[in-house]
Amino acid sequence: MGLKEQLIISKLRVIVRMKNNKKRKKVIVMGAGLAGLACAYELSQKKFDVVIIEKWEEVGGLARTIKKGKFSFDSGPHRWYTKSNMVNKWMLDLLGDEVIRVPRLTRIYFDKKFFYYPIKLKNAIGGIGLWRAVRSVLDYLIARVKSRLLKPKLVTMEDGYVNQFGHTLYETFFKRYSEKLWGVPCDRISVDWIGQRTRGLNLSTILKEMIIKSKKVVSLVDEFSYPERGIGRIAEKMADTVKKYGGEILLNSEVVEIERRENQITSVTVKVSGKEKKIEGDYFISSIPINDLVFRLSPETDRSIYALSKKLKYRDELQVALFVSKTHITPDTWIYVHSKEIPFMRLMEMDNWSDKLSPVGTTTLVFEIACNEGDAMWNKNDKDVIDLVKKSFVEEFSLIPYKTITGGYVHRVPKEYPVYHIGYRQDVDKIKKYLSGFFNLQLIGRNGTFRYNNMDHSIEMGLYAAWNLISGKKKHDIESVNIEREYLEEKKFESPEDEFVEEKH
Ligand SMILES: Cc1cc2nc3c(=O)[nH]c(=O)nc-3n(C[C@H](O)[C@H](O)[C@H](O)COP(=O)(O)OP(=O)(O)OC[C@H]3O[C@@H](n4cnc5c(N)ncnc54)[C@H](O)[C@@H]3O)c2cc1C
Repeated sequence: MGLKEQLIISKLRVIVRMKNNKKRKKVIVMGAGLAGLACAYELSQKKFDVVIIEKWEEVGGLARTIKKGKFSFDSGPHRWYTKSNMVNKWMLDLLGDEVIRVPRLTRIYFDKKFFYYPIKLKNAIGGIGLWRAVRSVLDYLIARVKSRLLKPKLVTMEDGYVNQFGHTLYETFFKRYSEKLWGVPCDRISVDWIGQRTRGLNLSTILKEMIIKSKKVVSLVDEFSYPERGIGRIAEKMADTVKKYGGEILLNSEVVEIERRENQITSVTVKVSGKEKKIEGDYFISSIPINDLVFRLSPETDRSIYALSKKLKYRDELQVALFVSKTHITPDTWIYVHSKEIPFMRLMEMDNWSDKLSPVGTTTLVFEIACNEGDAMWNKNDKDVIDLVKKSFVEEFSLIPYKTITGGYVHRVPKEYPVYHIGYRQDVDKIKKYLSGFFNLQLIGRNGTFRYNNMDHSIEMGLYAAWNLISGKKKHDIESVNIEREYLEEKKFESPEDEFVEEKH
């Protein structure tokens, strides 16, 4: 081929590229948690220009692995579990041989005793005593009969627990922990919160299974998938791919304003190091808290939507890591701590998840303290929080001496749990109905949809939003994710061991 022909071909290539570029649509993704990243991951590989805007300094949102010196630890216990084969395969394709299987052991620390979780009858009866065990069964039976005959209207979390388990079990295993987690009495939280968590797991199943020894026992999974270098690998891997395909990820960048015109969103204003810049886009995907989205709309929305958005609240958390010169201090992957006197509600030991997370002969313990942003606990300085947790753990559990704790770190997490106040669903539905009026906006993610998502749900929502744009049709219903009617962790189980409590993430 002569020089002339080569020049013509290269000119033609430039023209085609320019044409393609014109066709490329720009998608602004708000939030680099798993939902936003999953969406950007798909779009960036399919000729969309993607910009992710994330206010934190790292990607991953609620599912991060934090690195401090030689220690890596997760932002709370994150095990991978999904009922969706599609999402499971997607995750395995993403992480490949980084995924390991981790045996699960979870216990509840309660009245200075350890109970297996899911509960095992013999262990539970031994722990709570025969009299309380008999009362539990009787109460449970009464509750079931009442529920069948009277079909009571269940409004609050307390109604739900008592209806499902009876008073004694509610008071023994659910009330204290729930109130520690939420910071308010159980009658102030909607029954919806426990809906999916306990469905199908009840004493009658357990007793039936013990008697007839059928193979169809419902159970919580006793082994789970986990990236051996920490849960944050899911986000890191997606972010690498987004960047590889030309997508942009703006960190330390907060969406402070979202411009709307008629039935569309036109741009977002982002604050980076005190300076604001406007970014225009064709499509907008939001995984930031749904009410923050409303507050940032410009011009402002009408008062009723604004007022409903103000009603939505979240529970926040301090995550306290203690670095310890010892390994396998507990046998557990994580432990729930019910007593009010102990400040933390859950603790996890990282070397029981993977030995790649801390140097040989050491481990990290991560403690979670539920609180509200701005309250006395949240405002404590890091040293005081670390000292509080250290003292409480060393003295209450007597598992390690002070001198083995070589350091600590506090990770403050705002908006960890959407609070399902009574009547929240109607409020959220009205907000969503209003936002659905913007044809180029899709809501995804845990706080983005105000739904108590696990990782798989957030990823699935992100994928659906991307596939809707790729296909040009809204054929994937994001709102259909995480409304399974059956309990999230049902599975067929061979051994008739017994369990009936719910999981809280
Ligand atoms: C302690 C704990 C334990 C858990 N355990 C499990 C588990 O075992 N298994 C499981 O499957 N799931 C678990 N989960 C749930 C899981 O972490 C979440 O479902 C998932 O990480 C949510 O991802 P997301 O993208 O929807 O939301 P997020 O992770 O909240 O992402 C939203 C992102 O938006 C950013 N953002 C917010 N506002 C703005 C703004 N104005 N501008 C720019 N960015 C903004 C945030 O910084 C954040 O990064 C757990 C959650 C917690 C808190």
